[in-house]
Amino acid sequence: MLEWDVIVIGAGAAGLFCAIQAGKRGRRVLLLEHNEAVGKKIRISGGGRCNFTNLWTNPDNFISANPHFCKSALARYTPTDFIALVEKHGIAYHEKKLGQLFCNGSAQQIIDLLLKESAAAGVEVRCNAQVHEVLKDQEAETFSAATNQGNLLSSSLVIATGGLSIASLGATDFGYRIARQFGLKIEAATPALVPLVLLMFGATERMALILVIFGSAGSLLLPTMYGAQHVEPQARDVARGYRLRRRDTVWHILVPSAMPFIATGLRISATISLLLAIGAELIGGAPGLGNQISIDQQNNHIPQMYAYIVVCAALGAVVNLAMARLERRVIRWSPSQR
Ligand SMILES: Cc1cc2nc3c(=O)[nH]c(=O)nc-3n(C[C@H](O)[C@H](O)[C@H](O)COP(=O)(O)OP(=O)(O)OC[C@H]3O[C@@H](n4cnc5c(N)ncnc54)[C@H](O)[C@@H]3O)c2cc1C
Repeated sequence: MLEWDVIVIGAGAAGLFCAIQAGKRGRRVLLLEHNEAVGKKIRISGGGRCNFTNLWTNPDNFISANPHFCKSALARYTPTDFIALVEKHGIAYHEKKLGQLFCNGSAQQIIDLLLKESAAAGVEVRCNAQVHEVLKDQEAETFSAATNQGNLLSSSLVIATGGLSIASLGATDFGYRIARQFGLKIEAATPALVPLVLLMFGATERMALILVIFGSAGSLLLPTMYGAQHVEPQARDVARGYRLRRRDTVWHILVPSAMPFIATGLRISATISLLLAIGAELIGGAPGLGNQISIDQQNNHIPQMYAYIVVCAALGAVVNLAMARLERRVIRWSPSQR
């Protein structure tokens, strides 16, 4: 007999919730997460307080290639159902505006809620689980997942590894790869900013610069916010104990605490900037390496085209290496560098 009925890969909001529902239906469920903790994206959601539902959620608020999907999903599980769950766990909340409900405390309360519900439903949660490969045995109708914790077998497999955004929180293209492996149709992810900025500024270097600034700001801002919100409680107590002025608290406590996160954000946004610049040149036609690739492709200069692609890849590696070195140098004192 198989050890598991269901294996869910990815313990974000979707994976945790799916595992809970399967567990409640009496299935033996294993939830695998490659991060050291579950729900990292939930932790930063809603500015750290998690906007866990909206009173006025309805299918018209969703944009989807399949508009009927959210109709059935929302009919089966309504905002009222989630509010009841939040109240069952004694989590205090408030309405901010336009029906948005946030925790009064922190988003961690929602993660704890999901973990408690998982435990109650008999779900086994395993972190630090690396899934290398997924295969289907057509005859036995079973799935096998090759992981760093051995080969795991189940009759159902759920991929809940999320989208591509914020790799620093664990996002991967795993879901896309598995979908491709099983021949499933994928809605292409398109760079939404490029056409808009192209329309506003034309195919110019200015357009590429604006894209780079807007596109990479998020990767820097999010880790910075996360770092600032996760100052060690002891450090806050010391600041309070010494009655530090606000300016000194920011300079001596907040900035050093956030520094490792800012450094990581800088490293990620440097690589994203490069990708965006090349993408803008490639799609938008602004002068540069990306544009050169496009011109060589159109003129059938294949060796030159590949040469430029190799230069782009090397540039990416160099930027990442340089930023990693800078990070090690600037935050030598941080435990993350030891
Ligand atoms: C800054 C920010 C604020 C937000 N605020 C809100 C909000 O207030 N309210 C709201 O409703 N939504 C909010 N969102 C959106 C919401 O956070 C996401 O839609 C939601 O968390 C997505 O959940 P998910 O489970 O689909 O994906 P994810 O949360 O990305 O979970 C996927 C999980 O899979 C894991 N994983 C990936 N690859 C593998 C692998 N190969 N093996 C094992 N595990 C893997 C990842 O580590 C991750 O834990 C916010 C998003 C951001 C970025």
